Amino acid sequence: KSVVHRICAGQVILDLAAAVKELVENSLDAGATSIEISLKEHGEEWFQVIDNGSGISPNNFKVLVLKHHTSKLCDFPDLQSLTTFGFRGEALSSLCALGNLTVETRTKNESIATHLTYDQSGLLVAEKKTARQVGTTVTVKKLFSNLPVRSKEFKRNVRKEYGKLISLLNAYALIAKGVRFVCTNTTGKNVKSVVLKTQGSGSLKDNIITVFGMTVFSCLEPVNICISESCKVDGFLSKAGQGSGRNMGDRQFFFVNGRPVDMPKVSKLVNEFYKGANSRQYPIAIMSFTIPEKACDVNVTPDKRKIFLSDEASILHALREGLQQIYSPSNA
Ligand code: ADP
Ligand code: MG
Repeated sequence: KSVVHRICAGQVILDLAAAVKELVENSLDAGATSIEISLKEHGEEWFQVIDNGSGISPNNFKVLVLKHHTSKLCDFPDLQSLTTFGFRGEALSSLCALGNLTVETRTKNESIATHLTYDQSGLLVAEKKTARQVGTTVTVKKLFSNLPVRSKEFKRNVRKEYGKLISLLNAYALIAKGVRFVCTNTTGKNVKSVVLKTQGSGSLKDNIITVFGMTVFSCLEPVNICISESCKVDGFLSKAGQGSGRNMGDRQFFFVNGRPVDMPKVSKLVNEFYKGANSRQYPIAIMSFTIPEKACDVNVTPDKRKIFLSDEASILHALREGLQQIYSPSNA
């Protein structure tokens, strides 16, 4: 219990993307190889994440959504070597408070699944048997409905929030190896469109081809930069002269140890080098950093998008040299 008191709780769920992100990360933590995200009216009515992971065992049904309940953190030193995505035990309890949460789950030890309904305080209020394969489905209806101001904001910005969510799902689909992603959005009476569909291949290259297509891929070149003995970056960047005029945030994805993160300094550096050769264009950048866990702190913000790197200067330095080679005028 003392562990959790040392974690500074913030607001966990700031928008639609953050909400779905927590559910997707729970599915990844549960070892899912197939994750399906369904949205109704771009997530405004409800959203659902369906996985084929381990499922939740019955002795966790009652405590599941209680604040700081987690099955993933036993001791404070664990915080230094975090390998799972979730660890705060705050996502489900926050979602409970922000919308209507139901869970359907089954582990390999049960022959039948259970459908669970929670109230806003996190109390399990209904439990019934249902048919389902092993895995978990979490559904959130009417996100933010009990926060009038944020609810209004959400309704006004729903397209923007939806866009942010799709970009985040693209990020997971690009980096997750061997995990199949499907995202659908249902609008109107019953018009369902598939927004994202991947086969869960084993390589970043294949994932880029499924997410963005062969045409996009053929405009990229591989980057492999060794930063130090234990640090490297692998990925793909637009070939000189083949970037897009589109907004730079659009197709730039950064990962540290398999987690999508924001890296504004790296993004700025890449753009600068790229623009040196081609003004008015932004490169596509998909860059995956491998950095020893003890040299990064991903817990700086509740949504874990921001990352603090203890050796950022030397990473940027090595990157600068690598980019010089790729985008030097003689190579263009
Ligand atoms: P955390 O992920 O930080 O542990 P959450 O509130 O996100 O906290 O989830 C609480 C607990 O519920 C998890 O520790 C896990 O045991 C269980 N859980 C949540 N989602 C899933 C899922 N999709 N599959 C299996 N277990 C899950
Ligand atoms: Mg979690």
